[in-house]
Amino acid sequence: MNIDSKLPDIGTTIFSVMSALAQQNDAINLGQGFPDYDGPAYLRERLAHYVRDGFNQYPPMTGVEALREQIALKVQRLYDRPVSADSEVTVVPGATEALFCAIMATVNAGDEVIVFDPAYDSYEPAVRLAGGKTIHLALKAPEFTVDWQQVRDAINQRTRMIILNSPHNPTGSVLSPDDLVHLADLVRDTNIVLLADEVYEHLVYDGLSHQSLLLVDELYERAFVVSSFGKTFHVTGWKTGYCIAPPLLSAQLRKVHQFVTFVGVTPIQWALADFMRAEPDYCLQLAGFYQAKRDLFCNALVGSGFQITPSSGTYFQLADYSQISDRNDRAMCEWLTKEVKVAAIPISVFCAAPLSHQYVRFCFAKQDNTLLKAAKRLASL
Ligand code: PMP
Ligand code: GLN
Repeated sequence: MNIDSKLPDIGTTIFSVMSALAQQNDAINLGQGFPDYDGPAYLRERLAHYVRDGFNQYPPMTGVEALREQIALKVQRLYDRPVSADSEVTVVPGATEALFCAIMATVNAGDEVIVFDPAYDSYEPAVRLAGGKTIHLALKAPEFTVDWQQVRDAINQRTRMIILNSPHNPTGSVLSPDDLVHLADLVRDTNIVLLADEVYEHLVYDGLSHQSLLLVDELYERAFVVSSFGKTFHVTGWKTGYCIAPPLLSAQLRKVHQFVTFVGVTPIQWALADFMRAEPDYCLQLAGFYQAKRDLFCNALVGSGFQITPSSGTYFQLADYSQISDRNDRAMCEWLTKEVKVAAIPISVFCAAPLSHQYVRFCFAKQDNTLLKAAKRLASL
């Protein structure tokens, strides 16, 4: 049989590839982003409770109402934005699904979508499946900031969407209040839709604050804002997230969502609603929790050949290895996994054009002893 692939050049994601390699080589896995500790006990108990007590059939297409209400309360509290749990909040089985549905719902054949490289790997395939074309603009290394003049130059009649990701995976950079001003200037009086991937919204360090698109009226009015409970509650395998968007955009998203997955998992949604009601401030301690891990890891690498500028957000840390090796970053990650027994993620896979720097990405969402053990192996390089 001859299948005319819609994504002929796309292989298996780097996260699956590196996790498999880490397992084969018995390496400490600082590659794929997931914690090596569990979510809160009460949250897991609530899930067990709902599974046991008959909450096992389809939830409403938009998500369990109690959870949508908790999300709306959180958005009001953190970003001072009143959103309707009915018409602006959609619960989804993972942020990835919401990103896909938002793109499918709004990008038409021939439309252009601006992404910033290094760009999370799920964006481009979705844009292409929608018939659109991805325009890759490079973030400016080493701070990985947006060059707004470059964005202005890239915008034209075909520009349909700009995808933003702050805090940024894989570089750990965050948008500033000024960035939002520039963005608002650029999209005013256009038909450009914004897709904001804010799955690491609570992981911002050094006293900086998360610049959500929910904070600015004229940005939110054209935005899908996506988050993930996987990151917030240390349960990446629960694959549950949400999308906040104004009613017109939410209606479009839901048209696609109902035929991609229809709904997320019912008992998980009830458990999350209970947990958010019981511990509304849980998310506020995450920045301190992860900043301590970032510092532990970075300090343990002082004196090694890695050059490190501590991340401003996410649970990822870039490391420049140019003083250690002249391998390309893929080969470096394979070597680190096989020989040093620490897995990492190469950055070039997220970029259309080659990078001028040599970086690998480490995930520091790990127990302190895991981080110290990994850093000890890396520090000898
Ligand atoms: N966007 C970014 C930037 C991510 O790092 C991830 C990672 N998991 C996702 C989206 C997907 O989140 P989820 O697992 O909830 O689909
Ligand atoms: N977002 C996670 C990362 O960046 C991985 C998610 C996945 O494996 N698809 O590592």
